[in-house]
Amino acid sequence: MDHNDIWKEKYNLDKERGVKLREFLADYDSKVYNPNIKQLQENCEKLGHEYSFHGYNFIRSYTIIDLSCAIYKCNYCGASKQEEINE
Ligand SMILES: [Zn+2]
Repeated sequence: MDHNDIWKEKYNLDKERGVKLREFLADYDSKVYNPNIKQLQENCEKLGHEYSFHGYNFIRSYTIIDLSCAIYKCNYCGASKQEEINE
């Protein structure tokens, strides 16, 4: 086992855990979390979101990496928006 194998196994375990977490939370998320977050974000929108830069969205093709857009998230409610990057 080398570092590559360790990385791959950790990646697969984390991916599998993510699937399990989504399964366990699906009912709660659809009935409680998602509707409440949506309501919070609608209330926050009335006050005006305060966005901060969050990261870039990448399009990767072979060796070329294109920055397609910048992602911003509201500091208070987590609402996100994307802005295309014009070169
Ligand atoms: Zn907000």
